Amino acid sequence: MKIHEYQAKAILREFGVVVPNGRVASTPAEARSIAEELGGKVVVKAQIHAGGRGKGGGVKLANSPAEAEEVAGKILGMQLITPQTGPEGKKVKSVLVDEQTDIARELYLSILIDGFSARPIMLVSASGGMEIEEVAARDPKAIERISIDPAQGFQAYHARRAAYALGLSGDLVKQAVPMFQNLYRAFIAKDCSLVEVNPLVVTKDDKLVALDAKVSFDDSALYRHADLKGLRDIDEEDPLEVKAESLGINNYIKLDGDIACIVNGAGLAMSTMDVIKYAGGEPANFLDIGTANNPDLIVNSFRVIAEDPAVKAVLVNIFGGMARVDVIAEGVVRAFQEGLVKVPVVTRLAGTNVEQGEKILAEAPYPVRRAKDLGEAGTLAVAAAAGNA
Ligand code: GDP
Ligand code: MN
Repeated sequence: MKIHEYQAKAILREFGVVVPNGRVASTPAEARSIAEELGGKVVVKAQIHAGGRGKGGGVKLANSPAEAEEVAGKILGMQLITPQTGPEGKKVKSVLVDEQTDIARELYLSILIDGFSARPIMLVSASGGMEIEEVAARDPKAIERISIDPAQGFQAYHARRAAYALGLSGDLVKQAVPMFQNLYRAFIAKDCSLVEVNPLVVTKDDKLVALDAKVSFDDSALYRHADLKGLRDIDEEDPLEVKAESLGINNYIKLDGDIACIVNGAGLAMSTMDVIKYAGGEPANFLDIGTANNPDLIVNSFRVIAEDPAVKAVLVNIFGGMARVDVIAEGVVRAFQEGLVKVPVVTRLAGTNVEQGEKILAEAPYPVRRAKDLGEAGTLAVAAAAGNA
């Protein structure tokens, strides 16, 4: 789950991390009164769940409360397009009004889970402020990677190593050590998947400040954090993913292709996307209904997919283990009966009660293309999406 910058900063502040003073506003008048409280010189920042706002015109300095009101009036309600929003952009509903910081240097710091080592890792770079992906592509050595043993935790020497990699010295190292420890404490305490500070700045009077903050949580751990649920902003999420979740399909991720997949099991869903790619197609989604023996989940999967205008074919790939294939096949038939099928459907069934399942589909008055194996399922789905029956 992603949250807004102002929410991320509130959490970091709670953990003792130095962030600029500021508050969120949803009207220009509110922005003005916050600027008055902060002494006049502020930065007005669009709150959307995407980075690169500066480049898109969503971060603007204002030198008086009147200017803050004017700038907020321009940013609020705008359709902000950044390198991370996609071409349609995102509508700005609120702005963070922060006191202005006099920047001497912009640095980069993040903490995330490194999938390769299965450990938390801290990334730091003296090239902050810009997109870290660009730095990584151009000059990977400019990013220091500090792997953290979760049993040992984040130690002062980890923090010092990060500080030296950032080119800090003297009193700035003394500020960096507790700040980095506090960032790590927040990362662990809130079960984050990402804590990113870009830029982390050195001010002209030699203070270390987290000028920007991006915090994301591990969805699988949200049940442990009732307090975090209220931070969710559904308007920022993919509407089909929200709909899928409301229908009991917790593992649906919208992708860019045109072949939808309905699969039971995450590993099988990954292989199904591989098979589609291998056959020359592009998956429209990842969808794992889990191991449940429940035809409703199949019907609801079709309900979600029916609303994706990009979909040109559906591939249903089921291995009956805990689920029974005949029960799943009933779900496919019901989806047709309920009018949820608007494009060709390819099935590949295997496992428990596969014969009954195939029989149900063969006898149903619907044009299901039944593949005999996974390879054929891929080619049939790609052909169907291309309009070649
Ligand atoms: P992002 O573009 O979405 O990552 O938004 P950031 O919060 O990182 O802001 C983008 C850029 O705006 C920063 O890299 C800074 O260069 C600049 N900026 C943000 N806040 C301030 C500020 O208080 N003072 C000054 N001088 N520049 C700022
Ligand atoms: Mn930033």
